Amino acid sequence: MIFRRPSRALRIGRVAVGGGAPIAVQSMTKTDTRDVAATIKQIHQLEECGCDMVRVAVPDMDAARALPAIERAISIPLIADIHFDHRLALAALEGGVDGLRLNPGNIGDPDKVAAVAGAAKERGVPIRVGVNAGSLPFLDRKGRPREPSPEPRPLAERMVEAALGQVRLLEGAGFDLIKVSLKAFDVPATVEAYKRMATLVPYPLHLGITEAGTPRAGVIRSAVGIGILLYMGIGDTIRVSLTTPDPGEEVAAGYEILKSLGLREHGPTMISCPSCGRAEVDIVGLAERVAERLEAMERPIRVAVMGCVVNGPGEAREADVGIACGKGRGVIFRRGEVVRTVEEADFFEALMKEIQAL
Ligand code: SF4
Repeated sequence: MIFRRPSRALRIGRVAVGGGAPIAVQSMTKTDTRDVAATIKQIHQLEECGCDMVRVAVPDMDAARALPAIERAISIPLIADIHFDHRLALAALEGGVDGLRLNPGNIGDPDKVAAVAGAAKERGVPIRVGVNAGSLPFLDRKGRPREPSPEPRPLAERMVEAALGQVRLLEGAGFDLIKVSLKAFDVPATVEAYKRMATLVPYPLHLGITEAGTPRAGVIRSAVGIGILLYMGIGDTIRVSLTTPDPGEEVAAGYEILKSLGLREHGPTMISCPSCGRAEVDIVGLAERVAERLEAMERPIRVAVMGCVVNGPGEAREADVGIACGKGRGVIFRRGEVVRTVEEADFFEALMKEIQAL
């Protein structure tokens, strides 16, 4: 049982964040936000994957002007990612976004931050203070630009300091619809930063390992970093950042992390053995076919595909539907009961039939 850190409740559009709400899975579009059609198309794909909310880059005023059309065409909350120019944040708010992400390292001027806070407060729009290790050398104690320090302190300490500086600026402007993130590529530093921040502010925390890499390495790095924090009860929203053209992969990875810790259900879960010299059937081929078919399903069912009698019957019995294979034959289980025995040629169809019958 994971005891989650109490955090202040927010609403980002229709999605509840913090205050014990389910941990939300976020992603970010890879498209040029000024290309409204392409951005909407990608967000629709993310919606189909179960993405709870989406962030889009707003690098200039043309991108900010595209936001209302995007907002109208999608059904999940839209968050504008703003750097350098606070006027873009004001335009995004004017355009009806549900959330803002500001990088404290590159807006700086407290008056400009206060102007954004005032406009966000008027509309009830939360702001994420999104610290990224890559922009830290530009920060001073108040989150203002500066030259790199000749003796840099530990990364976690500097990230927390930068985030706190910005949080205090927002609070000073009478704003408390705040979420915080402290992302780095360095997993131990990221974990340390979140651990500290979790004790310093009451706000929800958005988790991520930034610049995590291409899917194979990035998913593992993210799962380690995000997983450690979630297990400690820290985290209210997550994003798995991957170098891939398909942000749906980020959403799928995010849900797998949450499912692994029993924090959310989402679609089918497959338990499959790795196969070994004891297997007397093609368990890898069967598992691949089943996994492909399950991808198209939305129901949160557990399916076990097991190669032999060593662990097979136990896992298959625990699943909603399972198969424990032997020499050319397999025993099908449904909710703990043996349903029938089938020949290897019929494994796949027999499993699918049981899944459909549930
Ligand atoms: Fe090997 Fe059997 Fe374990 Fe699969 S279940 S890995 S076949 S021992």
